[in-house]
Amino acid sequence: MRLGGSIRNGWLGGRVRSRSRPGTWHSVEVRIRRLRSGEVILVGRCDCEAFSKGHMVCWHMLHLTNVFIRNRHKLIKGFEVSIN
Ligand SMILES: [Zn+2]
Repeated sequence: MRLGGSIRNGWLGGRVRSRSRPGTWHSVEVRIRRLRSGEVILVGRCDCEAFSKGHMVCWHMLHLTNVFIRNRHKLIKGFEVSIN
């Protein structure tokens, strides 16, 4: 699975290739926020149907976050990500 992304002002932005439509890329923006309670939530947006119609955290947002977590493993080791 191909993916490109960057981090700007705490926002992780990237493009994730659609699983169902070859050649289609979705623009994804996600931010991982850590609450005072220690809980970590995921916020953001995506231009795919699942998010634009259902306003649900979609696979693309999760995938971008997963890649971020993998690459920043040392920084966020011990964190748990829960979906808001
Ligand atoms: Zn999406």
